[in-house]
Amino acid sequence: MTQDLLRGLSRFRTDYFPSHEEQFRRLVDDGQHPGTLFIGCCDSRVIPDVLTGAEPGDLFVLRNIGNLVPPADQEEGYNGVAAAIDYAVDILKVRDIVICGHSHCGAMRALYEPPEGASSHLVNWLELAAPARLEEPHSQEVQVRTERRSIVLQLERLMDYPNVKRRLKEGSLSLHGWHYVIEEGQVYILDVERGSFEPYEG
Ligand SMILES: [Zn+2]
Repeated sequence: MTQDLLRGLSRFRTDYFPSHEEQFRRLVDDGQHPGTLFIGCCDSRVIPDVLTGAEPGDLFVLRNIGNLVPPADQEEGYNGVAAAIDYAVDILKVRDIVICGHSHCGAMRALYEPPEGASSHLVNWLELAAPARLEEPHSQEVQVRTERRSIVLQLERLMDYPNVKRRLKEGSLSLHGWHYVIEEGQVYILDVERGSFEPYEG
């Protein structure tokens, strides 16, 4: 473990925790009631709490390679993604689900150039993004379009989950597609009406 991380632990213990102790106490006594399920990529440059200014207890975060959602009817094996979606939707009753993709996503790049030495776990997992692949040679522009197509694809899969479908129908749940462009410090939000991603300038 790097010294930097251990120094961070010290700072958390001596600075952050004492100044937020009441907040943590409340989250323990009252339990967690996050309003949002945030589905993001494992990429270390994606920083959900920093991006959104979320406080402890605000976001229920699910991260995986490529921010992908398996089909709702995939019953086999240990489906951690579906379990987290079901927990957030049925038990925590989140009101919003954000699928947040990002620029320079290695998972999307891998659709064009599979990484050498990729394990079968990785290759199988990336199949979930395959329909987003374009029949064009890879370029920066193709990369961005693929990342955004995949966000839409994952939202469509999410809408197939019976509990998500039901809560959408009730009007008690909203879905959101975000594309975070690291080098611009900008999040582009899917405008379903226009079918495009627009920079959030609020
Ligand atoms: Zn990624």
